[in-house]
Amino acid sequence: MNTVPPPISVLAASALVKTYGSAIALGGVDFRIGAGESVAIMGASGSGKTTLLHCLAGIIGPDSGSVLFATPSGTVDVTTLGEKERSRLRREAFGFVFQQGFLLPELTAVENVALPLMLGGTARAVAEQNASGWLAALGLAGFESRRIGQLSGGQAQRVAIARAQVTGASVVFADEPTGALDSRTSAEVMSALIDSTTGRGRSLVVVTHDEEVAARCSRVLRLADGRIVDEAVTA
Ligand code: ADP
Ligand code: MG
Repeated sequence: MNTVPPPISVLAASALVKTYGSAIALGGVDFRIGAGESVAIMGASGSGKTTLLHCLAGIIGPDSGSVLFATPSGTVDVTTLGEKERSRLRREAFGFVFQQGFLLPELTAVENVALPLMLGGTARAVAEQNASGWLAALGLAGFESRRIGQLSGGQAQRVAIARAQVTGASVVFADEPTGALDSRTSAEVMSALIDSTTGRGRSLVVVTHDEEVAARCSRVLRLADGRIVDEAVTA
């Protein structure tokens, strides 16, 4: 019999609880993701998807529970880090794609993608060269000098994907990245997101309402009232 060893987790959360007053946003959630894996988080509005994503990414701290992240220099519990260390982790090790790209409209596509590198101290010329490479990988060669308002919604989301990856993030977090796109553009953006993350051994955590998006991920978690009610491995 063939036994496949479980992938070593890059991120592993246990018993996450987060409350807002009397509202239980997360009621004890376990989560893990390995290198090259993609996990979709689904569930009705208010079920805790964004709260889970934000706890995993160190944007907010849970009331209790742990979020272990494997870095090259050892494993850290994201929940015990101070704000300064968490923001460094978010800047250097994690990438983010939101429903609205939060791209800077006064900058060009290549400047938007180069920005995280430049904030980390990389010289502009090197940062922009790297950024151009990512834009090309995402099908946007020739669009480097466009401002965000001169791009379609799907193109702008691909710029946001490039920006999320340019620093070499090992985990990319996406919260409804295709929520504002039509179904064909959504499929294209999702392909770009999956190829550029799992295709390169990175991990992707994606919150989505779209069953087609979820079906393209390696696993699908379903949340209801802050708890995981279903977990399925996709074919
Ligand atoms: P989803 O992303 O699945 O729509 P959320 O994680 O945003 O759900 O929210 C889960 C629950 O926690 C909801 O009941 C929501 O109202 C509540 N909640 C989330 N963020 C806050 C907040 N900052 N303050 C108060 N309640 C919040
Ligand atoms: Mg949400």
